[in-house]
Amino acid sequence: MTTPNARMGLEQLTFSTAVRRGLMLRCPACGEGRLFRNLLKMNSCCSQCGFKFERPAGYFLGSTYINYGVTALVTTVSYVTLYFGLGWPKDRLLPGLLLFCSVFPLVFFRFARSLWLSFDCFFDRTGAAEALPKAELIEPKK
Ligand SMILES: [Zn+2]
Repeated sequence: MTTPNARMGLEQLTFSTAVRRGLMLRCPACGEGRLFRNLLKMNSCCSQCGFKFERPAGYFLGSTYINYGVTALVTTVSYVTLYFGLGWPKDRLLPGLLLFCSVFPLVFFRFARSLWLSFDCFFDRTGAAEALPKAELIEPKK
């Protein structure tokens, strides 16, 4: 078994790869290790490459913006499509959308966190490199 190189994975991370790894709940550095060990609990680091997932308190607060944004976008598009496009009555549409707005953020929580971590690795590679395993922080001798 070969261990993926986290540093190389971060250097070659494209935006589409970051989005894909985020949506697959995989390590942003190698794309193989699982981010979550169960429904709510995150792993402390990648089981494949050792990339550290643990962050200081408050780091994942930004994922609420992603969660809120996606919820608001889906709700708005659904309302416009169903009300204006298909002519659904408001008394049938609003309770359904209210239920969606209550449940969807709970379901999307893990994906929002994963996307937040992937986007952070894509946009701030220097900060992401600090989460690399210690062995990869040492430059190879020439
Ligand atoms: Zn990894």
